[in-house]
Amino acid sequence: MSFDTDSLELDYILHHLGEDRKHLSQPGSPPLYLTSMFTFPTVDAMRNTLTCESSLPFYTRGTNPTLSLLADKLAALEGGEAALLFASGSAAIAAAVCAQVQAGDHIVCVDHPYSWTSKLIKQFLGRYGVSATFWTGEVSDLAAAVQPNTKLVYLESPNSFTFEIQDIEAICRFARENNLVTIVDNSYCSPLFQNPIKLGADIVVHSATKYLSGHSDALGGALICSQPMREKIFQSEYMTLGGTMSPMNAWLILRGLRTLELRMLRSHENGMAIAQFLDKHPAVKKVNYPFLESSATYHLAAKQMKGCGGLMSFELNTTELNKIETFCNHLKYFHLGCSWGSFESLCFPAATLYTSANYSQTHLPVNLIRIYCGLEHFETLKQDLEQALFLSGI
Ligand SMILES: *Cc1c(COP(=O)(O)O)cnc(C)c1O
Repeated sequence: MSFDTDSLELDYILHHLGEDRKHLSQPGSPPLYLTSMFTFPTVDAMRNTLTCESSLPFYTRGTNPTLSLLADKLAALEGGEAALLFASGSAAIAAAVCAQVQAGDHIVCVDHPYSWTSKLIKQFLGRYGVSATFWTGEVSDLAAAVQPNTKLVYLESPNSFTFEIQDIEAICRFARENNLVTIVDNSYCSPLFQNPIKLGADIVVHSATKYLSGHSDALGGALICSQPMREKIFQSEYMTLGGTMSPMNAWLILRGLRTLELRMLRSHENGMAIAQFLDKHPAVKKVNYPFLESSATYHLAAKQMKGCGGLMSFELNTTELNKIETFCNHLKYFHLGCSWGSFESLCFPAATLYTSANYSQTHLPVNLIRIYCGLEHFETLKQDLEQALFLSGI
C-alpha cells in the first residue's frame, strides 16, 4: 500500500523539521528539556521573553523547547500553521471548544462523539449557559440544527466506536459561509490518513495518546490551527486551565513519530484484512469499518481519507452475554482494554459499558465488540479471532 502523501515532505517533517542539531552538541535524538522554568542573564532579557511567552521559553506551562519541536511537527503534518500540546486529548478538546463559546452560545455537535467530549458539550458547558444540538452529521440536516446563536460545529470523523464519517469539506464550507468555527477530532486517522484543515476545518484536535505516541506509555493531546487562533487559545484556556503536556511525554511522542508511518501502514494493512475476514465470518453480524466496500459511506471515506488504520467494531451474531464474554475471554493476542493506536492489539466489548455508572447511557448494542489491530502479523490476529469465535459457540 502507499499513500499519495509527498514522501519527501513527510520524511522532512518527521526527521528534520525543527531539529536544531548544530547549536547543541549534534545529538541524534532531540534534547529533553525537563525543566519547569528558564533563567535569564539580565532583567532586559527576562522582560523581552515575557512579552513573547507564547513562543519563547519562560515557564513550561507556556513554552518549552521539547514541546515546541513536537508542536511544529504536528502543525506541519496537518498542514496547519501552529499547534498547542496538552496533557491529554480531552484537555486539548476542552480548550479548543471552550475558547469558541460564552454563556448564551450554542454548539452543533455530531451524534455520538467520544464519551468525554459528549459530556463536555452536553453537561459541563451546560452549567455555564452554553446549549448544544447533537445532529446526524449529514450536510443536508445541518442548516436545521444551526441557531442564530450557534458558534461552533464539532465533528469527529470517523468516531472511535461505530465509525460514522462526515463530509468534512462540505460541512466546513457551510460553516464558513455561516461564520461558524469548525473543530474536527482527527484521532482515528492520524495526520497521515486525513487532514481536515486542508478540507476547510479551523481546528484539528488529536488524542496523541493513540497513534502519535503509539507505545501505550504517554498520555497527550494536541490542537492544530491558524496562528491567530493559537494565540487566542494560548492567552485564555491554555494558560488559565494549565493542561499542558509534560516535556517527558512530548519527548516520548517525538520518539513515537519516528515510526508513525511504519506503524500506520501495518495497522492499516492488518485492519483492512481483519475487517474483510470478519465480514465473511458466520458468527459476525455486521462490521463497522469505513474502508469496507460494503460500508454505506465507503465512497466518502475513500475520497477524504488516505487510509483507515486498525480500529473497527463488529456485532456478534448473538445477544447472549455468556457467549459474548466467552469470545472475549478466549482472545490471546487481543488484550481486553481501552485505548488503541499503539503496538498491541486490543478488544473493548460494549458489554462492559452496561454496568458502569459513567457510561451506562450507551447507545452501543451489547453484542458490539471494538477491536484494534496492532503490529502483530495478520495471521496471528486472524487465528486468534478464529479460535475465540469457535470457542464462543456462536
Ligand atoms: C482517546 C480519545 C480521546 C481522548 O483522548 P485522551 O488522550 O484519552 O484524553 C478523544 N477522542 C478520541 C476519538 C479518542 O479516541
